[in-house]
Amino acid sequence: MERCDVAVVGAGLAGLTTAVDLVARGHRVVVLEARERVGGRTTGRVMEDGHTVEMGGQWLGPTQDEVLALCETYGLRTYSQYVTGDNLIVRGGTVRRYRPGEPRLSRTAAAEFVRMKAELESMAAAVDLERPWESPGAREWDAVTLRTWLTDATRDDETLAFWDFLVAGLFAAESHELSLLHFLFYLASGGMLEMLLGVENGAQDRRVAGGSHRIAEAMAASLGDAVRLSSAVRAVEHGPDGVVVHHYGGVLAADRAVVALPPALAGRLRYSPALPGARDQLTQQVPMGSVIKINVLYESPFWRTSGLSGQVAAPGRPLSVTLDNTPEDSPHGVLVGFFEGAQARSAAALSADARRALALECLTEYFGPRAAEPLQYLELDWSSEEYSRGCYGGRLGTGVWTAYGPKLREPVGVVHWAGAETASVWNGYMDGAVRSGRRAAQEVHAALASTVKH
Ligand SMILES: Cc1cc2nc3c(=O)[nH]c(=O)nc-3n(C[C@H](O)[C@H](O)[C@H](O)COP(=O)(O)OP(=O)(O)OC[C@H]3O[C@@H](n4cnc5c(N)ncnc54)[C@H](O)[C@@H]3O)c2cc1C
Repeated sequence: MERCDVAVVGAGLAGLTTAVDLVARGHRVVVLEARERVGGRTTGRVMEDGHTVEMGGQWLGPTQDEVLALCETYGLRTYSQYVTGDNLIVRGGTVRRYRPGEPRLSRTAAAEFVRMKAELESMAAAVDLERPWESPGAREWDAVTLRTWLTDATRDDETLAFWDFLVAGLFAAESHELSLLHFLFYLASGGMLEMLLGVENGAQDRRVAGGSHRIAEAMAASLGDAVRLSSAVRAVEHGPDGVVVHHYGGVLAADRAVVALPPALAGRLRYSPALPGARDQLTQQVPMGSVIKINVLYESPFWRTSGLSGQVAAPGRPLSVTLDNTPEDSPHGVLVGFFEGAQARSAAALSADARRALALECLTEYFGPRAAEPLQYLELDWSSEEYSRGCYGGRLGTGVWTAYGPKLREPVGVVHWAGAETASVWNGYMDGAVRSGRRAAQEVHAALASTVKH
């Protein structure tokens, strides 16, 4: 049986960071990855014009220091998201132009939105990022869905529709699917709403040249044959003396394991002995969001010549968000769009042809008839991906943080947990995944060091 010090399950950004950090501290590590590629929820596809577009996680922004530092370490250049021109919003069935910074909602809705945002952010500021369940107000906030709070806070339909749109954009889920506490935690974790939603100087500020999946590829290259592809882990035997990990490529023994998967997938491995009830019940209650991401290639970025940035906010429409996703050196044009939450579930039920037609219908509504004639249409339904089962990440519904919160990161004997869902800062983002890997590596290193001493 193969042996190493630490077995890492999953070669997404979290698992790879864990491995790189542990190797740097002198440990022998093997990373077991189910897919035939690394990067997990980050992946790229080469379009017909030879340029690569991101089909998963893609943007980086200020304060995402850990992932930005990785780009620097591996010599990966980042560049600004295209933002020049007017944005579009669909309001009352009409597509309207607005300049960034200008009001995009009616006066009433804008005032309601500002009031509610201030209230939510003042609550979020009180959330303890390390221990959300111990925040003042945690019990009360965890007992209601975000939707309940929103509908108690306003009767204005336009404001509510706008919140629903924003929430779907952040979680690929609906406001009734997460607790108020989870929303507040997420706001605080990512530096509040403007940072999370912002393009320029926000979370959508920058792209990685060649695609964000290159970060994982670079890390994996540095680890060499320590990364094993097509090696889905099925079972983890664990005890005081270590772990035995059963995977499709064989069996691996190690002193410790780090499971770097979203909780929903971590709960699908077979643990022997069975994990404590509370840990398993936690993993039963962190479902993934629903998102279908599309990239549409055009002969040229024709919207730019009409003075448009490519950015659309379309509350209530099936394809509710679009941005210009043209790679920096491409002569062509690319629009990226998202079906999110309930809209993604409806779109997933359509045939591929009908979904493509629906997406192009939306793009034509926003950008005119030229949008109906793409050179290529690419889509990825993340819910159907066996080794992700949804995106952008896992969310916590009512009562979950307060009943099970500590179980998210707490190791079970020699088994540790990493992944974007376990991050306290930039939870759910690439930066959070990297931070979680650093934390897990630190935890394991300390545990191994103390084992050697005694
Ligand atoms: C469409 C989309 C858009 C997004 N946009 C952004 C964005 O713009 N900016 C941002 O910061 N974040 C974004 N995200 C989120 C970001 O991509 C993730 O938070 C991050 O990549 C998660 O990394 P991870 O390592 O925690 O998990 P994952 O990337 O999910 O890694 C887990 C790994 O484990 C593997 N695995 C699963 N099961 C097994 C098994 N049984 N055995 C072995 N291996 C297994 C998987 O194949 C995967 O490689 C987006 C995600 C998606 C899908």
